[in-house]
Amino acid sequence: MKGNLFTKLALVAICAVMALSLAGCNSGGGEDSTGTNAGGEVVESIGTDGSESGEGSAASTGGGEIIMGTNAEFAPFEFVATENPLIDNFDGIDIAIALEIGKELGKSIKIENMPFDSLLVALETGKVDFVMAGMTVTEERKQNADFSNTYYVAKQVIIVPEASEVKSAADLNGKAVGVVLGYTGDMIMSETEAVLTRYNKGADAVMDLVNGKIDAVVIDSAPAASLAAKNPGLVLVEDAAAFENEEYAIAVKKGNTELLNEINAALQKLQDAGAIEAFGQKYQE
Ligand code: GLN
Repeated sequence: MKGNLFTKLALVAICAVMALSLAGCNSGGGEDSTGTNAGGEVVESIGTDGSESGEGSAASTGGGEIIMGTNAEFAPFEFVATENPLIDNFDGIDIAIALEIGKELGKSIKIENMPFDSLLVALETGKVDFVMAGMTVTEERKQNADFSNTYYVAKQVIIVPEASEVKSAADLNGKAVGVVLGYTGDMIMSETEAVLTRYNKGADAVMDLVNGKIDAVVIDSAPAASLAAKNPGLVLVEDAAAFENEEYAIAVKKGNTELLNEINAALQKLQDAGAIEAFGQKYQE
């Protein structure tokens, strides 16, 4: 059942990406990337990065390495794995896609694992070249980064114990709800009457749910399925009317149009080849 949910969402993602590209629309601010964003100084910094130290933006220096920032606490998109990890000790859908993008760009991928809320800062300071972390495009985040085309569409989902009376998002009013700090679930639930506890990772929230300390956890659909699968007795409650679709995309430093275009082209190629859907299938639980 959980697998079905995942598959369904993955397919929705594929359709959404196709629709977006057919419509010629870029969810991550297409206008910006064509240079209408008056970011002269940003463009300039891309050109000078490499001459200073050679570190930071491998993409802009033409180096052989490109650095991806992520937060490997978000299975099935990125997680630390001990068995057969794809690279270093990391595995997941985003990692798999990133490695393919690296191949397309002719660069090797280096992974920098860090807290989710440090990711966009790391982009801005040039510590990483791009961020891929199941990151939802939001208006607020678009102020600080440019986003690629959408590669996956998700929704928030409620995780509850089997016997819970919670059947919809409205039922969460007045309930003790766990969210992850700074995630879109946090942003959305902050505007409701739920009593929130904010955790550093989804697994911690689910542990408190299992121990009866909170009534529910609200988190992205695929990680919710993954967390519920690992914890018997937990079920997912979907409320399509309450939670809007969220689009995952890859973030680059604001104004880094060159890398953004390369990433979009690579994503499109992977999409056309059915690779993204295949990774979704591979990592579903
Ligand atoms: N999609 C959610 C967000 O962007 C969660 C992402 C994550 O935890 N990696 O906030």
